[in-house]
Amino acid sequence: MTAAGRFAPSPSGELHVGNLRTAILAWLFARSTGRRFLMRVEDLDRARAGAEAEQLRDLAAIGVDWDGGVVRQTEREHLYTEAIERLTAAGLTYECFCTRSEIQEAPSAPHAPQGAYPGTCRDLSETDRAAKRAVRPAAVRLRAEVAEATLQDVLHGSFTGVVDDFVLRRNDGVAAYNLAVVVDDAAQGIDQVVRGDDLLPSTPRQAYLATLLDIPVPEYAHVPLVLNADGARLAKRDGAVTLADLAAAGVSVEEVRDALLGSLGLPAGSLESALAAFAPAALPREPWVWPGLGGRGA
Ligand code: GLU
Repeated sequence: MTAAGRFAPSPSGELHVGNLRTAILAWLFARSTGRRFLMRVEDLDRARAGAEAEQLRDLAAIGVDWDGGVVRQTEREHLYTEAIERLTAAGLTYECFCTRSEIQEAPSAPHAPQGAYPGTCRDLSETDRAAKRAVRPAAVRLRAEVAEATLQDVLHGSFTGVVDDFVLRRNDGVAAYNLAVVVDDAAQGIDQVVRGDDLLPSTPRQAYLATLLDIPVPEYAHVPLVLNADGARLAKRDGAVTLADLAAAGVSVEEVRDALLGSLGLPAGSLESALAAFAPAALPREPWVWPGLGGRGA
């Protein structure tokens, strides 16, 4: 399989300029290295009817193109099941019955990093498990054999972070994000993962899981986010931040594209012309504060 990069939006609503900027970066990273560029809709969770079509329309409008059809996670459950079965056969999973509040209230294990699952259900007896199964369905967790992992990131260098017994399958039966993303990237031949740096803290879990599944760890580039004027991550409530809202405020898609390229230190005009000037080492390492565009209600 030839090398590939990807963009993997969650179809929970319209993309905003921060999402579009990340998509442009993922496209530039892939195309500048001769990779294919794939589109995967992460619809296991939070999917809103109609959002996928809006997102794909906006990506195309801004100049992001992709190879082949769109892959949807809801059509790939068998791959996630197979991976969990492999891990289970190797003794690397266990059932967990904890509620969110039980996890928050549990005393953390000695030396366990902040936010790590405290291991409450790790060593339940079969009798305990049977009793708990009668009360609520189990989630499936990884039985991690390390507490942290280190990965290499094109923009962040060497990054070490927590690996805990994270959830592989939620107790509603749906594959968890950390599992699905690793399985899908491997199955699609994706060897370059470019995404927002809010996801960097969960990436050591993914890199570790990849090694357990004998999957090569991809190249990672976690890119800076777009912030609002208060320094918080940009969100829909920050005014006109989607192409539709900006269009209503009189701002064309070309103006938005050029503002995003400008924020990356790249020439305006088209993604192709930006590609010629693209160099990861020259990218801004700081988040970009969205200046607002349009002024007419924007
Ligand atoms: N679906 C995730 C999101 O929209 C991105 C996951 C990824 O790129 O690995 O935040």
